[in-house]
Amino acid sequence: MAQLIDGKAVAARVRAEVKGEVEKLKAERGLVPGLAVVRVGEDPASKIYVTGKKKAAEEVGFNSWEMHPDEHITQAELLSLVDKLNADPEVHGILVQLPLPKHIDSERIISAVKPEKDVDGFHPVNAGRLSQGRPGMRPCTPLGVMRLLDEVGCDPSGKKAVVVGRSNIVGRPMALMLLAADATVTVCHRKSNLAAEVATADILVVAAGVPELIQGEWIKPGAVVIDVGMNRMPDGKLKGDVEFAAAKERASFITPVPGGVGPMTIAMLMCNTLEAAKASR
Ligand code: NAD
Repeated sequence: MAQLIDGKAVAARVRAEVKGEVEKLKAERGLVPGLAVVRVGEDPASKIYVTGKKKAAEEVGFNSWEMHPDEHITQAELLSLVDKLNADPEVHGILVQLPLPKHIDSERIISAVKPEKDVDGFHPVNAGRLSQGRPGMRPCTPLGVMRLLDEVGCDPSGKKAVVVGRSNIVGRPMALMLLAADATVTVCHRKSNLAAEVATADILVVAAGVPELIQGEWIKPGAVVIDVGMNRMPDGKLKGDVEFAAAKERASFITPVPGGVGPMTIAMLMCNTLEAAKASR
């Protein structure tokens, strides 16, 4: 029977560490990390995410700002807002909450953020640095997964890791981070033979967005299972991408949904913003 990985508790610890470092930065260098969050329009999920990010930023002692242009903002206006934040020395991290309205080219906006202020780690320069194994801003969700693995004493080095999903925000950077940690990595997608690949995994990370896609009986006994999926079911409850009850019987460690990876994403955003501030001067 697997042990549960308590993402909520780890995330609280990470935020406390950041808070301690912020106090030191303030005292020693007179530097207060600043996070600017841009939320365009009235997407209800974005509102919840941004509120959570702002609250966490305030709790760890950052300056934080929310820019909230309405959904009719033009691409040029949004680009000039990003430019203003790029130029502001008090802003160390800029996060443009996705999705953006359809008339805006998200890639243009993401690419307009200075790479050193790109605390989401989505800028092509940061993605390129990750793919070349060089330092840079890393996307928060896979960074949070790496921290959870570390917390349970799971060193990926020499292990077989299987990542299900290859999105730019989770699966692909996840695979590259595991590779950088010397795992042997397989990346799965819709054309993969999931049952066969999953059965080989010492470390399994699933980010597909399909409830209970991964059957418990596929899992290798003793595997560490990280479920990134967050699927809202008709009854309002959240379900992961892994058949939790069955997987728990075989895994050594497993993340619950909710309370696993979810809380880590915001905590790692705080870490990225802190690092951006430290590197700023
Ligand atoms: P996405 O839709 O951009 O990508 C999903 C990936 O999964 C794709 O690469 C696709 O090839 C693969 N996939 C989809 N169906 C599959 C199938 N049947 N078999 C094999 N592969 C399949 O999604 P995303 O943004 O990467 O998010 C994935 C999940 O993680 C979602 O449930 C999302 O809500 C969740 N998520 C959670 C957090 C968090 O903080 N915990 C952050 C980001 C995303």
